[in-house]
Amino acid sequence: MKILVINAGSSSLKYQFMNSETGEVYAKGLCERIGIDGRLTHKVPGREDYVSETAMPTHNEAIKSVLDIMVDPTYGVIKSVDEIDAVGHRVLHGGPKFTASCIIDDACIAAIEECIPLGPLHNPANLMGIRACQELMPTKKQVAVFDTAFHMTMPPKAYIYAIPYEYYEKNSVRRYGFHGTSHRYVSARALDMLGRKNAPEGTKIITCHLGNGSSLAAIKDGKVVDTTMGLGPLAGFPMGTRSGDIDATIMEYLMGIYGYDIKTMMNILNKKSGVLGISGVSSDFRDLAAAAKEGNERAQLALDKFIYEVTKFIGAYAAAMGGVDAIVFTAGVGENDFRLREKVIDSLGYMGVKMDKAKNDGCRVEADVSSADSKVKVFVIPTNEELMIAMDTEALCK
Ligand code: ADP
Repeated sequence: MKILVINAGSSSLKYQFMNSETGEVYAKGLCERIGIDGRLTHKVPGREDYVSETAMPTHNEAIKSVLDIMVDPTYGVIKSVDEIDAVGHRVLHGGPKFTASCIIDDACIAAIEECIPLGPLHNPANLMGIRACQELMPTKKQVAVFDTAFHMTMPPKAYIYAIPYEYYEKNSVRRYGFHGTSHRYVSARALDMLGRKNAPEGTKIITCHLGNGSSLAAIKDGKVVDTTMGLGPLAGFPMGTRSGDIDATIMEYLMGIYGYDIKTMMNILNKKSGVLGISGVSSDFRDLAAAAKEGNERAQLALDKFIYEVTKFIGAYAAAMGGVDAIVFTAGVGENDFRLREKVIDSLGYMGVKMDKAKNDGCRVEADVSSADSKVKVFVIPTNEELMIAMDTEALCK
């Protein structure tokens, strides 16, 4: 099927028009500055990018401009919108209700709305994308694919927080986890690479999604048993600009000293922390590596901290599952930064995991980069969340 995949943010919207069976991408692009002025960047493989300043007061005009360019005689890839078989949406927070993707109907929209307090920045934007598509393509089936859904197999001991139980019962406070679509895609690929695609029972995989935002998942028998992110995507280990887990006392302490309100404090933890906060240089790992090479000690400390925490969580998840068969690296950092992968794996030597440095050096494609005598496989697997969304959409719309 030909699926339009939509990832709507508050002022931007990414799209990909693709074949859900072959993974072929016909066109993809980005609407930016929605609600401000508006810019569309449209990419078709083998052609020059098309960029235009187009007024986008709301998500409706953004989707309209996407549909217009898709059918444009010069820059488009289809003759008519009828060629789009269905639409798949990335939705951030599915709360406790959504354990899988679902067809978007009134009940589904109401449930996504209910989850707004859990995903206050993303869910409203996701809903704007859904509503715009409903208005502009009223006859097309639409599917919601949740970032949290794959993690919903976690056992209570992994998802419960040690705070009064009533907050879980009354307010749904628990670990949810994010990047679920990515963890699902790469763990399915890893099972295939292990020759266990149809027999996941007994397998133990740790997936490391290391990008701007980062998370790890422990996946036993093909199902998530733990993950680093929590109620929201701030938890876990340090990221580009997010702190990861911190002692909550720090918040009280700094709010007391500087008179910050909770919004300011959360902004510091979300936007000014992580490897950016430690280094003062950048949230981009390429900049950090360059600065560290030139002797910048804080950039080196930020990288050391990141590697240390990733290594620590891998050890914790191996303990949680009673072993590990494969460690998977994915997303911007995991797919590209082979030196960082090497450092993580080198510090896990006690587990009997060994990297084949020749295979790992410069590897950016799907590959087994572990040495022949490694007790644990190490895989690099470029993630493909859009394909996963397209496949779910096809499965539900057939
Ligand atoms: P997002 O969470 O925004 O989807 P990505 O998964 O695309 O992020 O990861 C983006 C990050 O990947 C960049 O901020 C950068 O730190 C990192 N990155 C990309 N390419 C490289 C590279 N060649 N070496 C090291 N890090 C890289």
